[in-house]
Amino acid sequence: MTATVVVVGAGPVGLLLAGDLRARGVPTVVLEQRAEPMTETRASTLHTRTMDLLEERGVLDRLGPLPDGGSGHFGGLRLDLAAADPAHRHAGQWKCPQTRLEAVLQDRALELGAEVRRGRRLVALRERGTAVEVEAQAADGRRERLHCAYVVGCDGVDSTVRRLAGFDFAGSDARRELLRADVAGLDIPDRRFERHARGLATAHRWPDGSTRVMVHVFATTPGPRDGPPRFDEVVAAWAEVTGEDIGHGEPLWLNTFDDTRRQATGYRRGRVLLAGDAAHAQLPVGGQALNLGLQDATDLAVRLTSSGLDDYDRVRRPAGARTLTDIQAQAYLLLGGPEVEPLRQLFAQLLELAPVRRHLARRVSGLAAPSTPTDAPKDRSSTMGRLTNRTALVTGSSRGIGRAIARRLAEEGALVAVHYATGEDAARETVESIERDGGRAFPVRAELGVPGDVHELFLGVEQGLKERTGEAALDIVVNNAGVTTPAGVPPEDVTPEELDRLYAVNAKAPFFVVQRALPLLREGGRIINISSGLTRVANPDQVAYAMTKGAVEQLSLHLARHLAPRGITVNSVAPGITDNGGPLFDIPEAVEQMAQLSAFKRVGEAVDVADVVTFLATSEARWITGAFIDASGGTLLG
Ligand code: NAP
Repeated sequence: MTATVVVVGAGPVGLLLAGDLRARGVPTVVLEQRAEPMTETRASTLHTRTMDLLEERGVLDRLGPLPDGGSGHFGGLRLDLAAADPAHRHAGQWKCPQTRLEAVLQDRALELGAEVRRGRRLVALRERGTAVEVEAQAADGRRERLHCAYVVGCDGVDSTVRRLAGFDFAGSDARRELLRADVAGLDIPDRRFERHARGLATAHRWPDGSTRVMVHVFATTPGPRDGPPRFDEVVAAWAEVTGEDIGHGEPLWLNTFDDTRRQATGYRRGRVLLAGDAAHAQLPVGGQALNLGLQDATDLAVRLTSSGLDDYDRVRRPAGARTLTDIQAQAYLLLGGPEVEPLRQLFAQLLELAPVRRHLARRVSGLAAPSTPTDAPKDRSSTMGRLTNRTALVTGSSRGIGRAIARRLAEEGALVAVHYATGEDAARETVESIERDGGRAFPVRAELGVPGDVHELFLGVEQGLKERTGEAALDIVVNNAGVTTPAGVPPEDVTPEELDRLYAVNAKAPFFVVQRALPLLREGGRIINISSGLTRVANPDQVAYAMTKGAVEQLSLHLARHLAPRGITVNSVAPGITDNGGPLFDIPEAVEQMAQLSAFKRVGEAVDVADVVTFLATSEARWITGAFIDASGGTLLG
């Protein structure tokens, strides 16, 4: 028989993919080795991004209300995942037994017309021209052949597809392992990642009265395993770590998990693709493996039905690598012995900082993920990847607010020209951090405020864009680079040279950047000029600087009218006092004092401003032009 896509593996990843492919009209067959669906009631954690994806597909409605998964953790240190985006309707994490998720995803795939053939073991894969021949064996030994355009391995960490197609699965073997068991007849206290002198112990009573225990003895390395651990191993480890005897309990289920880290060096080989655990093996901490796999599936379904299949590897492999790195960091913190105590203490202190919590929570929750293409009508409501296929220039993005803007635009899928004047290393770091997160960027050097500045800038921008996209078209220009007089200068002392310099960098350069960008800007483009709250609050010692920012606001106002016929919006964003990483923000007393100016009693974070700029850059802000946007945390409220 002929199917367009054969998905191997009827776990959540394979079933979600099959449903999505059917929703796009692709004939899809799922082959599964197990004759019956899994019955283990392993709880699954669903993160915010996954909840969005499931909701968009109507899967959440089918699942019914899910219990709140409580606060999350990072390497066993408490991390409230709601910090990723407290206003999000799926902020936090949610619990859903994997069996239930699989059942619902299977129903959906079947209703949409997928064929799920169980009890079929994949035995051969052969690529023949524009088709792949798949051979599967049933339990009674009979073999069947299918021909398809693509095969996707969603068959887990021991993937047969991966082996048969010759994918390289590079990485490192397990160095540490956690023993797990569900045990009946125990009466021990619940505990979460409790660290003892000899190891780590977790106990959780299930509603059926059995207890899930997990235990790791520090500094033990896993030996070769061929199947689950013996119960007496678990009993011995539990006694060594906690001093408690659980030997009288009745083991219902025994299992281990370890910190193996492996990833396919490519997610695609010709007509064979990998998704989920088949593409990446990792410690299944905090449910990230499942969420990563489900996100692979939704991305791949779109790519398989559009012309961008090569982008699947380009986007999902870095996303996987990033999650694997985060998980490895968590493995050190969680399973490390006394030697990681200083690191844990430092990490715990860092987790007290709101931007750190937000950053990590976004990564765990999948909200920092690179863009997924959006051809499905529902996907358009998604807040991810809103700038896919757009290009952006952010002046002064080597550091401070500009860096945060460049990072956010790239997170949303834009290719970003990271401009700088002197901070070459900092600009490189910005570009590297964007690339590490799966985004695209390149550095451009040009000093602004000197003759020939804009010409030099655009030589670099045009060349960088052409090399990467084949054309020099821009969608977003952010005039962010600016100079200030940090300590202020009383009006009586401002010199003509100082005023000229401030004007040259802060007002004249943005004007000519825009003028030079006009022929490159595509319809629907965005110009965002960074002003300052100081245009609305009197501070005589900053009069010269504030005058230049007033000029920038005029630029926005008048060009908004001029460029509206091309659908280009022009707006000003005015930050208040914003931590740009400068030395002033290392002085707690100074920060405390500055914080009092904001209605929220804190100084702004660069990302607070970057989020506003990013919104203005999206199509969602199409109806805003010529506006002054106060991004000062209420500093201007008085
Ligand atoms: P920042 O940390 O001082 O960084 C300034 C950036 O602009 C750097 O990337 C720098 O590049 C670049 N730059 C400076 N002078 C330049 C020149 N002559 N030519 C080319 N590039 C130049 O700045 P920030 O605090 O993030 O501020 C960003 C924008 O927000 C500015 O327009 C500022 O006026 C405005 N703003 C900031 C605050 C605040 O509290 N931070 C408040 C209100 C408004 P190199 O390092 O490579 O030289």
